[in-house]
Amino acid sequence: MPDPDGLAEAALIRAWLRCAAASVHERRVWLTDLDAAIGDGDHGINLDRGFTAVLADLDGAGDRADPAAAVLTAAGRRLLGMVGGASGALYGRGLMTAGRHVGERPEAGPSDPVRLASTILGGAVEGITALGHAAAGDKTMLDALLPALSVLRSAASDADPASTLAADAAAGEAGAAATVPLVARKGRASYLGERSAGHLDPGAASAALLLRCLATTLADTPA
Ligand code: ADP
Ligand code: MG
Repeated sequence: MPDPDGLAEAALIRAWLRCAAASVHERRVWLTDLDAAIGDGDHGINLDRGFTAVLADLDGAGDRADPAAAVLTAAGRRLLGMVGGASGALYGRGLMTAGRHVGERPEAGPSDPVRLASTILGGAVEGITALGHAAAGDKTMLDALLPALSVLRSAASDADPASTLAADAAAGEAGAAATVPLVARKGRASYLGERSAGHLDPGAASAALLLRCLATTLADTPA
């Protein structure tokens, strides 16, 4: 899809953020209940407050032609300011780093949904890791994000984009589900030690929702 000014990409990012806001809103009680089991019971409420503010920003911007990088950075800054708790700082930093990576790509060129998703997710993982110093298996949001990123990075160049994006979202959901038996090594849940095992990590659960939205939004891109 030719997109010389990157405006189609920016529209996709906005559509992703709207999907994410709706999904987090719909699942806010579930996310909060997950956090009540191994944390302090605020994850869904906090994230919903942040994404509601992001949505208001998008509505306020109307048809303004902000580039994709600026949309991501502004959303990250908003989450950082509104969500509170570990996940606000982590998702905020993740989106801001994703914005930087999208802005620093060598040339705009034709928009490729798998590459765009990979750039966004790679940036998010970099930002979240730089701030939180968690690794795979620590029972965090990274346990959903890392397997999803590896699906995107290892996709063959001639693979069908819609199938790759569907596999990416499925890997995020499987990664989140696989946090259940893990003992938390980062964040509030780590205070519980062995007692954190047997519960789904709330941040991995919300990350899987965001990944599903990214995949369905970008898979709608006309070739
Ligand atoms: P808080 O623990 O401050 O109440 P939230 O409840 O909003 O924050 O978010 C908790 C989630 O944040 C956890 O389920 C986990 O996925 C994620 N998390 C916590 N610490 C880290 C970290 N150091 N790196 C990555 N993710 C983390
Ligand atoms: Mg919490």
